[in-house]
Amino acid sequence: MPDTLKVQKLEAPRGTKVHGYLHIMDRPSGKHEIPITLINGKRDGPTLVINGGEHGSEYNGPAGAIALMKKLRPEDISGKVIIVPMVNTLAFESKWMHGNPIDYRDLTGHYVEEVPRGGSGHPKVTYYLTSTFYREVLKQADYRINLHGGDIEEDLMTGTMYRQSGDAEKDRFNLSLCRAFGWEWIRESRPRPSSNPMKFPLSVGTEAGGMGRCQSDIVEEVIRGCVNVMKKLGMVEGEPVIPPKAYTYQPYHLYAEHGGFFISNVRAGDLVKEGQVLGIIKDLFGETLEEIKVPTDGVIHMVTSPSIWEGDVVYEIGKDIKEIV
Ligand SMILES: [Zn+2]
Repeated sequence: MPDTLKVQKLEAPRGTKVHGYLHIMDRPSGKHEIPITLINGKRDGPTLVINGGEHGSEYNGPAGAIALMKKLRPEDISGKVIIVPMVNTLAFESKWMHGNPIDYRDLTGHYVEEVPRGGSGHPKVTYYLTSTFYREVLKQADYRINLHGGDIEEDLMTGTMYRQSGDAEKDRFNLSLCRAFGWEWIRESRPRPSSNPMKFPLSVGTEAGGMGRCQSDIVEEVIRGCVNVMKKLGMVEGEPVIPPKAYTYQPYHLYAEHGGFFISNVRAGDLVKEGQVLGIIKDLFGETLEEIKVPTDGVIHMVTSPSIWEGDVVYEIGKDIKEIV
């Protein structure tokens, strides 16, 4: 493993921390660059990326990452840490949900190694962003903490998440990292067949608060969770401080059959029973168009906002809840 941690022209020799910018692309009025911090620990260990803000209107994760940029000291760390608190700065600047106001793409679904060529239309800033972030940052990492939360319109249950790979041993370890983060709820997605050859670091995702708010108590939990994962990975001294029990669940969505005004009877984190009416959709004359019933026992992972188009997601539900120790 090389001694110096390097991202583009930014270099952190062993035992140092440097702040700078990751250059993404040239924009019409100047450079598009995003803040990045490199922390090269005094001792050997894995390379961890902590990023927030793939979605720019989710705030508790980025606030935690910014605090970690200040807090983490190279002399306490075994390994290397790269922190990018707000990947999608264009969305952040514009209070934009999910995508960004330039090319409208949600970058989580647009990771590429090469920026696609051809055609006119919107600029391809999201592709430049994902390809640069992947090539310069994610590719050199062993592990990643990917800090998300609810966007401005989402009431979301706080917890961690990971996607299973199908490799049982790897998945067990990934779950143990989520468990180490220290939140009680762990969203467990099934393996997804993918033709994408890109190799991503083993990742702990977070869903930290929502509805466009940044709350100091949740930010503190994000900071503690990241340090817990670093403890689990042997990157800092000590054992993770976690609650005695946690619960895993499988996510699925409920979709609106009608457009209209959506009113929810439940909040994120509520436990629900099969057949329960979670909410209603009315037209703007007050007539009920639809009652939304939940088809399984479960927990409310996400509730969206009142303005609903036909086919919109109204809830994300967690089913098959299992207690783990
Ligand atoms: Zn997100």
